[in-house]
Amino acid sequence: MTTLVWLRKDLRLADNPALLAACRAGAVVPVFILDEAGEGCPRPLGGASRWWLAGSLAALAAGLAEKGSRLILRRGHPAAVLGELAATVKATAVHWNRRYDAAGAARDEAVAAALGARGLEVATFNAGLLAEPWEIATGSGRPYQVFKPFWVALRDRIGSVAADGAPEAMAAPERWPASDALDAWGLLPTRPDWAGGLRAAWTPGEAAAKDRLEAFLADAVETYPDRRDLPAVEGTARLSPHLHWGEIGPRQVWAAVASRAGGGRAGAAAEAFLRQVAWREFCCHLLHHFPRMPAANLRSQFDAMAWSDDPASLSAWQRGETGYPIVDAGMRELWATGWMHNRVRMVAASFLTKHLLIHWRHGEAWFWDTLVDADLANNVANWQWVAGCGADAAPFFRIFNPILQGQTFDPAGAYVRRWVPELAALDDRHLHEPWRAPPMVLRAAGIALGRDYPPPMVDHKTARQWALDAFRALPAQP
Ligand SMILES: Cc1cc2nc3c(=O)[nH]c(=O)nc-3n(C[C@H](O)[C@H](O)[C@H](O)COP(=O)(O)OP(=O)(O)OC[C@H]3O[C@@H](n4cnc5c(N)ncnc54)[C@H](O)[C@@H]3O)c2cc1C
Repeated sequence: MTTLVWLRKDLRLADNPALLAACRAGAVVPVFILDEAGEGCPRPLGGASRWWLAGSLAALAAGLAEKGSRLILRRGHPAAVLGELAATVKATAVHWNRRYDAAGAARDEAVAAALGARGLEVATFNAGLLAEPWEIATGSGRPYQVFKPFWVALRDRIGSVAADGAPEAMAAPERWPASDALDAWGLLPTRPDWAGGLRAAWTPGEAAAKDRLEAFLADAVETYPDRRDLPAVEGTARLSPHLHWGEIGPRQVWAAVASRAGGGRAGAAAEAFLRQVAWREFCCHLLHHFPRMPAANLRSQFDAMAWSDDPASLSAWQRGETGYPIVDAGMRELWATGWMHNRVRMVAASFLTKHLLIHWRHGEAWFWDTLVDADLANNVANWQWVAGCGADAAPFFRIFNPILQGQTFDPAGAYVRRWVPELAALDDRHLHEPWRAPPMVLRAAGIALGRDYPPPMVDHKTARQWALDAFRALPAQP
C-alpha cells in the first residue's frame, strides 16, 4: 500500500501523526503543495514567511533523504495535484494533519471530498495543537473568549503529554513521481536580497528547532518569568517561527518543559512558559470559532472607531522613525531579523493603534509581511487584543506609555542602543526620551534631533487624550 502525506504546517518527521501512520501502513510519498492562486486560496505568504519556507522545505527534504525518502514539491490546486500524484504512484490513501482556520478547513473538506470521489481513503490527524478547538468549551458549550479559564480547562484536559519520535524507516514507492525544483519557486528574495539579517538570526528546519528548544531548556527556562519581558536578553525561547511551520510541535515542547518542571521555583517558571504556549492554542481556538476575525473586530463597538487615515505616519512607524526609541528599536529589529520581542510588539502595536489611531489591520498587514513567525491566528488575535477590540483584550483606555515601557524593560538601554545606534552615546537617563535631553547632553552624544534622530511624532499625553476621546465616543458594546 502507498500513502501520500500532504505536508503543510507540519514540516517535521518527529511527532507527525499523519506521517507516522502512513509509514506504518506501507510506502510513503511526502508532498508539499505551493497553493497561492485561485479562489478560496489562503492569504498569500508574506516576504519573510517565503524566505523561511524555502529553508524549511530544504531542511525537510534533507531529513527525508536521510531516511531514504524524498519530498515531492508541486504547485497548483491540492485536489488536482494529489489526485494526479495518487494515480502516478498508485497510492490508495492520502494523509494530512488538520488545520483550524475556517477557510483552510473548508478547503480541506473540499479536497477530501474530491479525493474520496476518486476512491482514495483520506485520514486526518492532529499535529499542531495540544487540544483541538472543539475539544474545549465553556460550561455552557460555547467557545472561550477569556484566556484564564481557557488555560485552566486546557491544562486540566491534557494532563500529561507525550510526543512520538520520527518514523524509524520510510518505505519508498515503486517509482518516485517528478518534483518541482525548490529554487524554481522563487521563494528567496534576489533583487534586492534583503534577507541577510534573517539568515544571521535564524536557521529554519526541524534540527534547528530542536536545538533552540534544548538551548532554552539548558539556559533560560528557569529564569523565564524574570527575563521574558526584557528585550535586550535572550530570555524567551524564540520558537515561534518553528512552531508556526510545525518544525516542532506543541506536544514536543510541552513534554520537554513539563518533564523538567518539578516543584518550587522551577515548576513555577515552567508553568509561566507553558501558559504562553497556551496563548497560541487560545488564538487558534478564537480564529476557529470566530472566522471573521482577520477582517472584523471581535467587539463590534469598534466598528465605529474614528481611525485616522495617515499613510505618512504609518510609514514612519514601519521604518522605525517615530521618535520614540523603544518603538523604533522594535520596528528596526523586525525589519532586520524578521522577529520582534513580545513586550516590544505590544508597545509598538499600542503606539500604532492608540497614539497614532491607525487601524490595527494596517499593523497586522505589516507584521504579516515582515515576521518570520507570521501566523494568522496569533497575529490577528494579538493585534485585536492590543487594540482593545479582541477577546480578553486589554481595555482600550490602558495605553502603553512608550517612555515608561522603555525605562522599565530596557533600563540600561542595551536594546535601544543596539537597534537605534544613532542614540548609542546618549546617557541612560535621556535614552528613552531624547527630546528632554538638554542641548549640551545631545551635543556631547553627537545627536541633533531632527537630523540624526526624529523628534517624537506625537506628544504622548496629547495622543493619549485623543485616543481616550475616540474611545469614549464609541457606542456601548451590544
Ligand atoms: C501585536 C502582536 C502580534 C503578534 N504576532 C504574532 C505572530 O504573527 N505569530 C506568532 O507566533 N506570535 C505572534 N505574537 C505573539 C508573541 O509576540 C510571539 O509568539 C513571541 O514573541 C514569540 O517569541 P518566543 O518564541 O521567544 O516566545 P516565548 O515567550 O518563548 O513563548 C513560547 C511560545 O508561546 C507562543 N506565544 C507566546 N506568546 C504568545 C502570544 N501572545 N500569543 C500567541 N502565542 C504566543 C509562541 O508560539 C511562542 O513561540 C504577536 C504578539 C503581538 C503583541
